Amino acid sequence: MIKCQNCNNTIDTDSVFCKYCGSKIESEERKYTILKCNQCQAENDLDADFCKHCGSNDLIKEEQTDFEFLAKYARFF
Ligand SMILES: [Zn+2]
Ligand SMILES: [Zn+2]
Repeated sequence: MIKCQNCNNTIDTDSVFCKYCGSKIESEERKYTILKCNQCQAENDLDADFCKHCGSNDLIKEEQTDFEFLAKYARFF
């Protein structure tokens, strides 16, 4: 169980949104880092030297939220 940072109620660990106040639960586990191409915005593997999509070496690290996880649960809200 985790605590909602907004209303302090105890909610399930796998909750995406607090069921009491509806605020979004930020969890480190749902964040991951990608290597994003600054030219074509394609996502690349973290160890890539060049963009697999356009071949550019202008790659930037970016922190992402696991949107697939959110999408899976989005229909419940
Ligand atoms: Zn809450
Ligand atoms: Zn690219």
